[in-house]
Amino acid sequence: MDREQESFLTSPNLSCEEVEELLDCYIDSEMILPLKVRFEAHLSQCEHCAELVSDCKDIVNVAKTLNDDPLPEDICLSLRETIRNLHLQK
Ligand SMILES: [Zn+2]
Repeated sequence: MDREQESFLTSPNLSCEEVEELLDCYIDSEMILPLKVRFEAHLSQCEHCAELVSDCKDIVNVAKTLNDDPLPEDICLSLRETIRNLHLQK
């Protein structure tokens, strides 16, 4: 996992696509620090991604209060799809 994350450190800036790819990792707090710095730097410059992350955090927090079990992977994926579609409609 860490090696996969390190591959995102080679480009000077993260793209919106990369931010979306890394979203789960960020939400789960599994992100390595140098990548987290880049991720948050992108969020500070990109309203679209900042909104995406805050929406996703809200949904995950609500889901956690409803159920102590970790979210199944497929639910996470469908949440992401839903959020992405919402953003595309704007
Ligand atoms: Zn972005």
